Amino acid sequence: MNEEKKLVVVALGGNAILQPGQRGTFEEQMENVRVTCNQLAQMVLSGQYKVVITHGNGPQVGNILLQNETAREVAAPMPLFVCGAESQGLIGLMIQQTLHNLLADEGRGDIPVATVVTQVVVDRNDPAFENPTKPVGPFYSEDEARKLQSEKGYNVREDAGRGWRRVVPSPDPIAIFEKEAIRQLVDARSLVIASGGGGIPVVQEGGALRGVDAVIDKDLAGQRLAVDVGAKIFMVLTDVEQAVLHYKTPQATPLSRVTLEEIKRYQAEGHFAKGSMEPKIRAAIRFVEGGGERAVITSLDRAVDALEGRAGTTITRD
Ligand code: ADP
Ligand code: MG
Repeated sequence: MNEEKKLVVVALGGNAILQPGQRGTFEEQMENVRVTCNQLAQMVLSGQYKVVITHGNGPQVGNILLQNETAREVAAPMPLFVCGAESQGLIGLMIQQTLHNLLADEGRGDIPVATVVTQVVVDRNDPAFENPTKPVGPFYSEDEARKLQSEKGYNVREDAGRGWRRVVPSPDPIAIFEKEAIRQLVDARSLVIASGGGGIPVVQEGGALRGVDAVIDKDLAGQRLAVDVGAKIFMVLTDVEQAVLHYKTPQATPLSRVTLEEIKRYQAEGHFAKGSMEPKIRAAIRFVEGGGERAVITSLDRAVDALEGRAGTTITRD
């Protein structure tokens, strides 16, 4: 029976955990996670799907970096990639506990739920390392930023008139290092939370792994995870119900079902904004091109409907 269940990798966007304007207290984050986990629990309880969950971590890792910097005189600050690991534990626990409680309410507290601290291998020669683009952590004054640049070798940049920020490279994910461990958990019918925040970026030096200060796009890492665990469906849950052509113009046209060929054309025509919808589309294209059955993009509250073709944007080979 278990063999008939379809494996779905679900990538949760930032709003699944923290809404714009919220301070990010534990209670606020747990409330958002509850809404999200409701959909995930429904998927599991339907008996039709096995689920692997991944998620973003922008606001959470930003707060951890701020805590590190504010308390640097009394507690040794950690490198960015370690802050990424902390955020995986933080968010992983919130999802893990909430999902368990929801499943237990339905008499299915026996289903194991586990978070895997996940390293993602990147290429040390990835051109992204020559060109850091991803802003992380708090805003600084220009003076503070210059000081961090000379003292710590940070790359800093003015961010859209809002102040100065550290920027780090965003390399392409090559492999989920813990894929074997994740697969074994899935085979043993666990619900797994993995590769949070795009994963902890590592480079391989001979047989050894070394953490690097970079941020991997969570949608691209989610696609890599989906391939590495052999998922049939890759689903991206965000804050819009569908990908849209001519977005935010009078000609706006939401996409429901599209083929690989069509979506590649729309992508080339520049319909999807860089840094938000574009990486989701790129990840979806990679997934279906690599043999995945379908990629689905929709909003958090329509996850179950979208899997049944009643909502969202679904991309298939033909
Ligand atoms: P997440 O945290 O889920 O990754 P993002 O903000 O990175 O969220 O991406 C989702 C956003 O992409 C939407 O809120 C929407 O404003 C934006 N977006 C850009 N281009 C499009 C498009 N063509 N169709 C739909 N949404 C788009
Ligand atoms: Mg995003």
